[in-house]
Amino acid sequence: MSEASVYQALRGHLAALRLSAAAESLPGLLDQAKAGHWSTTVLLERLFSTEVGAADARRQATLARFACLPAPWRIADFDFDAQPSVDKKLVAELETLRFLDDATNLLLIGPPGVGKTMLSVGLGWAAVDAGHKVHYTTAADLAARCHKAALEGRWATMMRFYASPRLLVIDELGYLPLPEEAAAALFQVVTQRYLKASTCITTNLGIASWAKVTGDPVVAAAMLDRLLHRSVVINIDGPSYRMRVHRARAEASRKAVANGK
Ligand code: ADP
Ligand code: MG
Repeated sequence: MSEASVYQALRGHLAALRLSAAAESLPGLLDQAKAGHWSTTVLLERLFSTEVGAADARRQATLARFACLPAPWRIADFDFDAQPSVDKKLVAELETLRFLDDATNLLLIGPPGVGKTMLSVGLGWAAVDAGHKVHYTTAADLAARCHKAALEGRWATMMRFYASPRLLVIDELGYLPLPEEAAAALFQVVTQRYLKASTCITTNLGIASWAKVTGDPVVAAAMLDRLLHRSVVINIDGPSYRMRVHRARAEASRKAVANGK
């Protein structure tokens, strides 16, 4: 076999095995191998490592898409000085993701604007970066999707969907009252994940007023029981960061107007 036909056969093998990154890098690597007098082992290692790298990048892109995280916020972006009620050490411990190993749940409780979504999204990205399956949803969205699934006869599929992520973030529980059916869906999601995988819930409601979320105190108590059994609760009671930004802007415009005079 001539050198050219061996090369063509190799391209064919790479295509048949769908090793497209390796196929693409082959000509360049062969040139480099020749110029640098690489051993066959080195050449093969470089060739396969391009493919492994491309597969990793594809897997990460899929995880990031599936996660549906609504913002690029990272824990490193969180200003702990602005929110002293958040324990920096505790958040750093959460960022190690050890809590995922024993399916510990997270409950972030506090009024609007204090960074509940930001922290849950930051932990979500940390988990995605570490290669975990994460999914973000709001409580209202979860309720709406479950309602639609029930009407279309896809309830079991929907429940499997919400059971599968290693970390499920359910944001904004309690902002809107959930109808009884929605509360039942949420209860089932929490129950089937119990002791298996972590759920992170953010809410503006203190634990004592959880009966209001579901309208049914028995369901609320049962759900809280499962959520809290193995959990980390972060109560944020500081000022709203959103309002702080508004105030700073208003202050800046006032100054600009004053200086302009
Ligand atoms: P919540 O979910 O508690 O209503 P968010 O997480 O949506 O609040 O935060 C509101 C806005 O303020 C977001 O733009 C967020 O990035 C910002 N923010 C809140 N807390 C902090 C903080 N401690 N450091 C930096 N930005 C913050
Ligand atoms: Mg929020």
